[in-house]
Amino acid sequence: MDLIQKTISDLKLDKKYAERLEHPERVIEFTFPLRRDDGSVIFLTGYRSQYNSALGPYKGGIRYHPGVNREEVVLLSKLMTFKNSLAGIPYGGGKGGVSFDPNKISRAEIERVSREYVRNLFQLIGPDLDIPAPDVNTDAEMMAWMVDEYNRLVSKFEFATFTGKPVEFGGLKGRDEATGRGAYFIMLRGFALHKVAKTAKVAIQGFGNVGMHLARILHENGYKVVAVSDSKGGIYNEKGLDVPKVMEIKKSGKIVQEYKDAKKISNEELIECDCDVLVPAALDNQIHKDNASKVKAKYIFEAANNPITAEADALLAKMGVEVFPDVLVNAGGVSASYLEWVQNRKGEIYDYDKVVKKLKEVMDRAFDITFAEKTKQNTYREAAYRASIKRLAAAMKYQF
Ligand code: GLU
Repeated sequence: MDLIQKTISDLKLDKKYAERLEHPERVIEFTFPLRRDDGSVIFLTGYRSQYNSALGPYKGGIRYHPGVNREEVVLLSKLMTFKNSLAGIPYGGGKGGVSFDPNKISRAEIERVSREYVRNLFQLIGPDLDIPAPDVNTDAEMMAWMVDEYNRLVSKFEFATFTGKPVEFGGLKGRDEATGRGAYFIMLRGFALHKVAKTAKVAIQGFGNVGMHLARILHENGYKVVAVSDSKGGIYNEKGLDVPKVMEIKKSGKIVQEYKDAKKISNEELIECDCDVLVPAALDNQIHKDNASKVKAKYIFEAANNPITAEADALLAKMGVEVFPDVLVNAGGVSASYLEWVQNRKGEIYDYDKVVKKLKEVMDRAFDITFAEKTKQNTYREAAYRASIKRLAAAMKYQF
């Protein structure tokens, strides 16, 4: 029995809810041509999974990665369903992607991919239907190209169709750091509850949008970040890294291993490094049955989506490692997306302080409702799914 079936049965809910939540409502798959800068043409496959709409329009990011496939997109859209429910925002779950390596093509080619993606989907997305956002390897500028393409196709200014846009093009101040800041708010609650000292050693796998902002915010608030990594490898210093220096290196287009005052480690070694708190903030399935037993951290905060396999999750629970799940820890991004959507629809412009305040309220509430379901016997993931599924089932009751 998987976690959803188990939760539904524990909550004594009708099996029909489990069945609905095991399948996506709609999955769109398409192939389109990309004209390369040299005039040649290649074909790429794109996806959008619209998993569940009980709580509102589908919502979730679009990723560009060679590992993108139908199964992964569907799974990630399922996660978005539970995340959006837990965050208490009026959205169902969705996710999209295109399977290719954006590091191997030019920015102009990426713009063509982004516009093509929208041309294939525009009839099935919109502010009241499905609202995409950035995810792995997609950024604010790409959202700007997408919303511009969408507006042209529908002959309307529907900026609320995409979130995570540049601030000067309908975006929200603070959206870029929101996933990292949201994770920080959850870490603060977890640290307070489990009496984790400020001197704790924090290791972060990933230094992209999520990992970089989280490392910066932790550092600014006096926490010790001992390790970070990018796709080329990581760095470790038990005394703590000078995070602004690492950011400077990264922003100049170099890899984090150019930072001198640390030992070079691999991404695999980072997972097993000597630390108290581990934050996977990169890709999925990073902690699996072969390395879970080597994890030294007592606490894991999943800033990435699905970074721990089910087998590893069970092993970590046996080892007594407290895992704070992705649906809770990384809900800050989509919660700020919600504020951006409201801002666009109301024609308002929110200031940064208001965004941070609202984000903290959403994250604290999600933590509280998770904690209300936590017992000595269950994990934070099980507690989060109980809270999330209760809200989903209460809405689905009116659908079938
Ligand atoms: N890609 C982010 C996530 O996985 C944000 C999604 C959104 O803002 O819609 O939660």
